[in-house]
Amino acid sequence: MGAWLFKTRTRKQIMRRVVRRKVVRRRVGALGGSRKDYLLHKETARVLVHKKLTYFNQHYKLAWGSVAVRNQKSRWGSCSKAGNLNFNYRIAFLPVHLQDYVVVHELCHLKEFNHSNKFWQLVAETISTPHLCKKELHEHSKMIAKRVALSVIRL
Ligand SMILES: [Zn+2]
Repeated sequence: MGAWLFKTRTRKQIMRRVVRRKVVRRRVGALGGSRKDYLLHKETARVLVHKKLTYFNQHYKLAWGSVAVRNQKSRWGSCSKAGNLNFNYRIAFLPVHLQDYVVVHELCHLKEFNHSNKFWQLVAETISTPHLCKKELHEHSKMIAKRVALSVIRL
């Protein structure tokens, strides 16, 4: 009886440790969603991104290579040196003004491959409060991280 109690308690402790480790890992890759969620929403995100790129590029008139929507773990978007743009499928769930900000941010990297004042001035040509958007986006990332962490605990 004593040994049995000891055994179950140990197993529980181990499980708790495994869950905690999972949570920590998910927090690091906070933006990554499940494959099912990604497959369900990537087309919506792709259409949205293309629409916004076309819209804002009427102003910027830049050229890009490929556009991909991915299940990125820690980024909302990225721009490669070759001019290829990547976006996180979760962009589909952001408020419209933050969707605009993410698209314009990556679009402007085609001209300014840095985060210099010049880059932010370029962004500000179409986004009136880019720094506020950046902050808000960070809050959204934290919210998603919390939700992902909680969903792991409930498993
Ligand atoms: Zn950037």
